[in-house]
Amino acid sequence: MQNFIKVDRLTPEKVDVISRLKNFSEVYRIFDPQKAGTQAERCVQCGDPYCSACGCPLSNYIPHWLKAIAQSDPELAFKLSNESSPFPEILGRICPQDRLCEGACTLGQDGYGSITIGAIETAITENGFEAGYAIAFPPPHSQKRVAVIGSGPASLSCATFLMRAGIAVEMFEQADRPGGLLTYGIPGFKLDKSVVARRFEMLQAAGMKLHLNHPIETEKAFKALKEDFDAVFVGVGASRAAALELEGEQAEGVYDAMTFLTAIQKGIFGQKRDERFDFEEKRVVVIGGGDTAMDCVRTALRLGARSVTCAYRRNEAAMPGSRKEFINAKEEGGEFLFHAAPKAFELTGGRLSGIKMIRTELKEDGKRGKLVEIKGSEQSIKADIALLALGFSHQPMAWLEKCGVKLNRWGGVQTDAAQQSTLPGVYAGGDCVRGADLAVTAAKDGKIAALRIIERLLA
Ligand SMILES: Cc1cc2nc3c(=O)[nH]c(=O)nc-3n(C[C@H](O)[C@H](O)[C@H](O)COP(=O)(O)OP(=O)(O)OC[C@H]3O[C@@H](n4cnc5c(N)ncnc54)[C@H](O)[C@@H]3O)c2cc1C
Ligand code: SF4
Repeated sequence: MQNFIKVDRLTPEKVDVISRLKNFSEVYRIFDPQKAGTQAERCVQCGDPYCSACGCPLSNYIPHWLKAIAQSDPELAFKLSNESSPFPEILGRICPQDRLCEGACTLGQDGYGSITIGAIETAITENGFEAGYAIAFPPPHSQKRVAVIGSGPASLSCATFLMRAGIAVEMFEQADRPGGLLTYGIPGFKLDKSVVARRFEMLQAAGMKLHLNHPIETEKAFKALKEDFDAVFVGVGASRAAALELEGEQAEGVYDAMTFLTAIQKGIFGQKRDERFDFEEKRVVVIGGGDTAMDCVRTALRLGARSVTCAYRRNEAAMPGSRKEFINAKEEGGEFLFHAAPKAFELTGGRLSGIKMIRTELKEDGKRGKLVEIKGSEQSIKADIALLALGFSHQPMAWLEKCGVKLNRWGGVQTDAAQQSTLPGVYAGGDCVRGADLAVTAAKDGKIAALRIIERLLA
């Protein structure tokens, strides 16, 4: 260990840009066991590992599995990594590590380049599956049953930890496939859909019942679950797209990010192609600066758009998403217009033809500064398609409220620190509690809820 003086930080190899743009396959290759080991050997093994204690929301045993893989014990690394995390190979791919574990790594702060924690984490489990290691699920032995509503990372995490404790789980999902935003939000070039499906196949093989096309959205349906099961976990996400409320926003050619990304993924799954998203030769403008905006930029480029411009009202440094995804979007040909805010959608014959933008500037005011529009700086840019990636809020959940589950002032489910809602026996986590956040924080909520449920049901 402590080989950081001799070995430089390496990130996984990427598919070249021209090949990447031809399909939706994953861009990053997976470290082979040897490369994962060599990179892991750089770890200092800090006495007080910030990567785990402050960086990773799941407090993964990062230094321990780094040491195991560096010392050629892949099975131990696999076990340790899958002990605290419900799906390390997924989070290793999609976590914004620069803001989490790798951002907290001592080596990064000392200028040596942080350990490539995410890539090693993915490699440990992927190479482990390839070697035949499996996650152990005991057959349900407790006579206790839990209903899980939704199948995103919060629910998948909750179900995984419950089943590992021998509690039976039934999952109710309104969509035709499980995975929530792991399936219908995050594009395949970041996370291959077979990787998500594999986790559900494992749970189903271990006895989980998965009900697809099965929304729970009425008082009656929810009360029936509450009566039939020993506990209920609610992980329904927050999928209401934020709007700009500008002139022309409802016109043909203006779409919200999730409508677009979901339609494209459905097309990839072989369902009917949505002709609104035939982008060949189209000028596409994406509005927003976070991960969803980068996903829209990169998806539009793969659809053959003539140009894809991302307009963001703040500057590059203030972009809220993952740095690596911004770099990928730029490499693939995305153009960026900073300090630009939309004022109106311009139409020709009822269809989008341009967007009136105004320049903005940041005035010093607190940590993020105050954004002001510069009077008289309006300019029109040509656009055939506008994709709005402005964030998400909670969908109405009156059915829950009517049953006694208190919602907070933003419309999310109110919980205590153990993810217990105001209605005994009902737990919640992920975006439906926090508002739009991250897969790893959703996974953390699902895990905390599961641990509390296990404590209550198996006491
Ligand atoms: C385009 C995009 C890209 C993203 N990229 C990243 C990224 O790179 N890294 C990252 O960490 N995070 C990313 N995120 C955020 C991350 O995906 C979410 O924070 C996370 O998926 C939230 O998990 P969840 O389980 O709370 O909800 P969701 O993933 O939204 O899952 C909720 C599930 O509940 C189902 N459901 C809703 N209502 C009902 C009902 N009444 N009955 C039954 N089922 C219901 C939904 O169909 C859905 O399947 C991204 C988000 C988007 C939109
Ligand atoms: S789950 Fe995310 S934050 Fe935690 S170690 Fe893995 S990549 Fe880092």
